[in-house]
Formats: sequence, C-alpha cells, structure tokens
Amino acid sequence: MSDINSNMKMTKTKFDKKSIKTTTLAYFLLLALSLILLIFFLQNLFIKNYYEDMKIKETKNLAKTIEVLYEKNPQKAISYASGKSLYTGTFIRFDANGTTTVFDSGTPLYNSNYPFEYEVQSARAKLSVDALPSVSLLTDDKNSGMSRLVFATYLRKNNDENTGILYIIAPLYPVQSTISILQSQLVYISIIALILSIFIAFFLSDRLLRPIESITKSAIRLSQGKYDIKFNGGNFSETIALAGALNTASYEMQKTDFYHRDLIANVSHDLKTPLTMIKSYAEMIYDISGDNQAKRNEHLQIIISEADRLNNLVSDMLTVSKLQSNNVSLNKEKFDIVYIAKNVFDTFKILNEHDGYNITFEAPKSILVFGDKEKIKQVMANLISNAVKYAGEDKVVNIELKRIGRKIQFSVKDHGVGISNEEISHVWERYYRTSANHGRDIDGTGIGLSIVKGILVLHNADYGVKSKVGKGSTFWFTMDIAKK
Ligand code: ADP
Repeated sequence: MSDINSNMKMTKTKFDKKSIKTTTLAYFLLLALSLILLIFFLQNLFIKNYYEDMKIKETKNLAKTIEVLYEKNPQKAISYASGKSLYTGTFIRFDANGTTTVFDSGTPLYNSNYPFEYEVQSARAKLSVDALPSVSLLTDDKNSGMSRLVFATYLRKNNDENTGILYIIAPLYPVQSTISILQSQLVYISIIALILSIFIAFFLSDRLLRPIESITKSAIRLSQGKYDIKFNGGNFSETIALAGALNTASYEMQKTDFYHRDLIANVSHDLKTPLTMIKSYAEMIYDISGDNQAKRNEHLQIIISEADRLNNLVSDMLTVSKLQSNNVSLNKEKFDIVYIAKNVFDTFKILNEHDGYNITFEAPKSILVFGDKEKIKQVMANLISNAVKYAGEDKVVNIELKRIGRKIQFSVKDHGVGISNEEISHVWERYYRTSANHGRDIDGTGIGLSIVKGILVLHNADYGVKSKVGKGSTFWFTMDIAKK
C-alpha cells in the first residue's frame, strides 16, 4: 500500500519517463516530426516532377480543346486560344493553311520574326520523326536560364488530314523559388505543429489519466478497509469497465470480510460450548466422581460425546471451507443411488428400535446416477439427520426415492416444527439457524445445509425444501438418471 502511495507521489513530483503523460507527449512529438519531415522531403524531391507533370497535363488539355474547336470552327478556336494565352501566360502559334497566327501571353504578333523559332522548329521536326499526333519536349533557355514546355499537335479541319500544326509553349518557372517560399512556411508550420502536439498530448493524457487517478485513489482507500468507496470510471468504456470490475471486487471483499468475522464469531462460540463441557466434566471427575465408577463413566461418556461433537464440527468446517474455496474435487462415477440411500437409511434405522422413531424407506429397485458417491451419501445423511433432529412428536421420517421422467428425486419428510416463509430461503446459508431453534435444546451449527448445497451445486443438481410451520418439512434433490 505504501508502495502505491509513493508511486502516486512520484508521478506528481518527479519526471517519470514511463508515465502515460510522457509517453503520449513523446508519441505526439514523433508524429509531428514525421509529418514535418515527410512534407520537407516531398517539397524537395517531388515538387519539380509534380509541377512539370501538372504543366504537361494542363497544356495537353488546352491543346485538345483548341484542336476540337478548330475542327469545327477555326476562327472560334483562334479567339479561344488568344484568351487562354493571356490567361495562362503561354505562347500559342497556329501554322495552318499557309498562315501563321501567334499569341504571346495574349498579345497577337504580326511581324514574321516570331519568337521561339528554334523551339517551334524542334517540335515540328520531332512531330514528323515520331509520326505521332502530338509531341512534347522540354527546353532550356541558356540566356534566361528558363525552362519551357513545348507542345505541338496536328490541326484538322472537316476531317481533312493535317491542315496545320498548333504549338503551345509554356514557361516552366524555376521551382526552387517556390520551394524556398514553402520551406520558410514549413518553419512556421513546424513550430505550430510541435506546440499543438504538446498541447493535445497534455490534454489527451490529462483526460485519460483523470479516471485512472480517481480509480487509484479509491483503490488505496479500499486497501485501507474502507468498503464504502465507489470506483468511478469517467467516460471511457475501458475505464468504466475497470471501475465496474473493481466495484464488484470491493463488494466481494466486503462480503468475504463479513463472512470472515462471522466465521470467527461462530467458530469460537461453537468450539467454546463443547470445550466448556469437557472442562467442567473433567473437573467433576477430578473433584467428585473419580472414585465412583458409575458416575465417572457417565461423565467420561459426556466428555467423549462432546469431543466427538467437536470433531464433527471441525470436519464440517473444513468441508465448508473447501467447498467455499472451490477446493473440492469430485470423484465421479456411475453408482446405484438406491443402494447408497438404503445404506444411509440402515445407519438411522437403529433409532426406530431404540428411540421410538418411525423412519420409513421407499424406493424403486435400482437407479444409476453419475456423481461422487461419498459426497451424495453425505448429503443424504445430513438431510435425514436434520429430519430426525427436527421431527415432530410422532417421530415419523419418510425417506423416498422417486423417478420423475429422466430424473430421480430423493426426499426426506418430517412432521416437525417446519420453517417459516421468511426463513426458508436462508436455511442453505452457512451458520443460519431458524428462530424455531431458539430456546430448544437442539444441537446444531447451521453448517449442514450449506454443505448439502455446496455438494449439490457441484453436481449441477436441483434441490429445495417445502415446508409449513407446525406441519413439517420435505427436503429434496434430483439427479439425472445415467444410462446403464
Ligand atoms: P443445523 O446444524 O443447525 O441443523 P443446518 O445447516 O443443517 O444446520 O440447518 C440450518 C437450519 O435449518 C437449522 O438450524 C434449522 O433451523 C433449519 N432446518 C434444517 N432442517 C430442518 C427440518 N427438517 N425441519 C425444520 N428446520 C430445519
């Protein structure tokens, strides 16, 4: 616990490189830096190619449009080209039907000394050599250091073959200046991105941590034995699930703690009575009856039976504790439940002769079931001994095994005190004894039925009790009949 406390303090005071906050921050910074690097490389490596590709595509599209227009209406195509030349800053030249029409950035040129003669010649030569409908080439102007895209395509008029040639020359502005602009922008973008990622990382980790910190605080209180705390999982599904699980755990701890105290109280009480008896009778023998054989034997008999009672009590407690910690392994086999029940009945039959009981047994011939023979025997013995203990004046106890469909039902009926409706659901709980016991001199610890329940649950068997106050009770359980 002090460990948790010191950990909590540590996260607050010292830089903890394993904390969620630091990890989130590191990952966000990493993300921002990767994005910045990516942009930087894209700008430097690809922008030139990208720009040229875009320019070629744009010029091709323009040529295509002019070509289509020209086929229908040359005049319209020329005026369209003049507009486009102005708009895009390109040089456009029509060589058709012996006439040359030229626009340089939208300005029509009339003297025959047209610019870009060299580029036009080169494109024309490539057009005829390549024998393609259109060609494009890149040229570098040594004087200005400027690159140009030269595009040439044949023009047709009313399906006539190759009426003329259209040239479009587009300047390719040096990309370096663009890159410089973008790079200076990138510096700002980087600073903003880094600051943003720090903020988002802090905000995010704060949001994530709030429910975790609240859960940790509650867990510390829980470890101090404060069961009244509630775990709050905030708004995230995962933390809500965690808080839910911890709430269940704390409820279970509270229950266990309660049982623990309950157990100690019961055990000490239950052990104390026989121990007191043993001590008093031993003293009695020591002081009074030591020389009187009859009396001494009587007192020794009481000591022996109290010791037996102690022994039974302790082994019952052990069974309960094993059942409770799921530490019981069943030794399952196919066995005849009628034979086993008869065996148990036989041990109680002696009461018929000596104590005026009327214990009856009714059962079919033989029925096979699958389970732990010894444990089922223990269940039957517990139920019959309860019926005997709580039997009525008539001392009648009916044991019956009855086939119900594919199941076999074992039941024990008495005509005794019965159990009230309010208490009937509690009789299976450990250490529960009904109020009818109070003031009556009946031995019992309230453990027997909880052992019965534990064993039957392990066998997936149905069980229950029907009872009426003053009329008696019938305890029963059923098991599946096994195939022969
Ligand atoms: P105990 O050792 O007290 O008999 P059990 O777990 O066997 O413990 O039974 C729990 C309580 O259920 C008993 O104390 C008793 O009040 C009630 N009970 C059990 N069997 C019967 C019965 N056949 N008739 C009336 N009450 C019963």
